[in-house]
Amino acid sequence: MTVPKLYLNHIAAFDWLIALEFGRVDDGQPAENWRGVSESFGFLHSEPGGPEVGFKILDFSQFDPGDPAVAEIWGAPRFDAPVLGLGSATAGEIVLAARALFGSESSINRQFFSAAMDAEGEEALAMWLACLQSGDPMAHYGLGYTLFGLGRYQEAYRHLRHYTEISPCGAWNWCWYGKAAEAVGERAEARAAYERALELEKDGETETDAWLLLSMLNSEPAQTHGARYVAYWEYDPDAPLTCPDCGWSGSGAGSQELFEELFDVSCPQCDSMLLIVPYPTAAETRAAAAAGNPKAQAELPNVESRLKRLDRAQELELRTPEQLPELRGKNLRIDWDLEERDDEQWTVLRHKGREIWRELAYYEGYERFARVFELLRERYGPRLKEVRPTAASELYLYGDKLSAPERIEKLNASLKG
Ligand SMILES: [Zn+2]
Repeated sequence: MTVPKLYLNHIAAFDWLIALEFGRVDDGQPAENWRGVSESFGFLHSEPGGPEVGFKILDFSQFDPGDPAVAEIWGAPRFDAPVLGLGSATAGEIVLAARALFGSESSINRQFFSAAMDAEGEEALAMWLACLQSGDPMAHYGLGYTLFGLGRYQEAYRHLRHYTEISPCGAWNWCWYGKAAEAVGERAEARAAYERALELEKDGETETDAWLLLSMLNSEPAQTHGARYVAYWEYDPDAPLTCPDCGWSGSGAGSQELFEELFDVSCPQCDSMLLIVPYPTAAETRAAAAAGNPKAQAELPNVESRLKRLDRAQELELRTPEQLPELRGKNLRIDWDLEERDDEQWTVLRHKGREIWRELAYYEGYERFARVFELLRERYGPRLKEVRPTAASELYLYGDKLSAPERIEKLNASLKG
């Protein structure tokens, strides 16, 4: 009998062991494909009712395979675990051997993964490639958007398309696939991908740029066809352009339209889209400045100070529930406030007026709100009744994200169940 050959992915920082058939990821799987054995142990099925293709364990270091509640992990299904030298083994046997093999160290793929997340441009590309070659298929995603950022759209497209196949329920996966499809001229595919991202957003997945990208695609029916992607620092607003549709010639300077992630240049005579210019990544600006581009050199200090601010913000972030103080009371209502101090915007959490946490605020920091919300919930459990943004914090927290207030209300509503 052939059994799935598992790839072992140990993420020490999250305390997860993910043991899935080679080529599969745990990220973005349909909820109905998971079957929980306990709070922390779940089998992944190829489809509901289909065969098991592996398993995932949360709180791996605390997981007790001898607990009678998880007795079934010592029976069928069986798996091969080549890295452990085990054939046709039970999940229980794999757990014991994996614990001995990895100890408190992450598997090598995660070391490349972390290095890739900390890097940019070519350096990130090298790390994502190493991560992928060490067997971690999750790297297709990072590799895809990194290639896209480097203007290598055709290759980006291949990896991002594949990632939606192995991780079909992630809204961002579809959004990135759509962007790459659009960049290589596959408009119908791009539209379908953005639409899929929007459906997933409706089901509660993270908000992406799909709505904007789709409306741009739709507002220019067939006219973006043939528009060229141009790297931001290579774009010269005074360079002559010729419209392939009507023959107009001139410079693009007066015909730019700005969007959140890019601007485009359209023909002033027939409105055909001529150029699409994504805003530069920090790596692109650095590279252009190093290559002698004077505009990039002028912009570089701003980029570096933004990155520095981002680094500092990440350093000061609340990471674990234990960093929060003990609080008395059965019904805890936490205020999420914004305060300006030392020329900086701070998010300040207060309980009954007493400051319990402070970190740098993110503009449109809804995602950060959701993360801190989870940490508060872990710390205070069912005693947490509400995390309410103060009036002063709202503008900075919501920004232009129209759906943010509703999302925050939903989070709070989840505390009432
Ligand atoms: Zn024209």
